[in-house]
Amino acid sequence: MVGRSPPLLQPVARLRPHAASLSDSAPMPELPEVETTCRGIRPHVQGRRLTRMVVRNPRLRVPVAAELPTHVEGGTLEAVDRRAKYLLLRFAAGTVIVHLGMSGSLRLVAAAEPAGAHDHVDFVFAEQALRLRDPRRFGMVVWQPASAAVHPLLASLGPEPLGDDFDAAYLLRVTRGLRAPIKHVLMDSRKLVGVGNIYASESLFRARIHPLEPAGLLGPRRCARLVDCVRETLAAAIEAGGSTLRDFVGGDGQPGYFQQQYFVYSRDDEPCRICATPVRRIVSAQRATFYCPRCQRRS
Ligand SMILES: [Zn+2]
Repeated sequence: MVGRSPPLLQPVARLRPHAASLSDSAPMPELPEVETTCRGIRPHVQGRRLTRMVVRNPRLRVPVAAELPTHVEGGTLEAVDRRAKYLLLRFAAGTVIVHLGMSGSLRLVAAAEPAGAHDHVDFVFAEQALRLRDPRRFGMVVWQPASAAVHPLLASLGPEPLGDDFDAAYLLRVTRGLRAPIKHVLMDSRKLVGVGNIYASESLFRARIHPLEPAGLLGPRRCARLVDCVRETLAAAIEAGGSTLRDFVGGDGQPGYFQQQYFVYSRDDEPCRICATPVRRIVSAQRATFYCPRCQRRS
């Protein structure tokens, strides 16, 4: 500690449920949260040798394989990436695929810091550990030899919303003939990954498209606008997460991040930020859906 204090021994990313999480609209870590986690941990662990993997409780959504530590111990973590809502810890021999489930978080802690009841897995890099906390245990930690892309969880995923493959022509093509509401299409991971309930509602508001509009009715102009709005919405959320991350001062659970100003999400009966009409809440496919009946009209 002399002269140079380790700046790393703080939680770098913690995912907190939103205030509305007790309703049926319970938000889970979505793409921006996972991306922020990825960016937060990467500089601290990428390129480092994993000395030990500790599995205190393997009983996650899919049990952590008993032999998983033998695949990674002693190996160098070559890259930390994200695909959809999966974090990919890439080693020469394969990839650890981590999903944060409904309540998971990955934090960087001192390896000696005592583990709490919900701290199920540690990836130890000498004096530091990347610690998975998951109170509800819907998360996942699985091993995939060689290329992660062929793992069944990843093989059938659609394009990344922030990637080049997601553009107006693509959205137009995959929505032709569809009578399903556009919101369902945005949330269908075979067509587009990483857009969950919050960001689907927010993107559709920005694009002034009714969430129940049959997807096949969207023409080229509205497809182009929606693509732009999905990207803007996610980029703004990542930026919000990133800025809070820089301010993160440690301690458990504060300050929370992603306390964003939503346009419509979880704002039922509150005035629309554009036109002051009360925001409406409906349930569609068992998910709470929020929209402004004036700004977002059905065609
Ligand atoms: Zn409005």
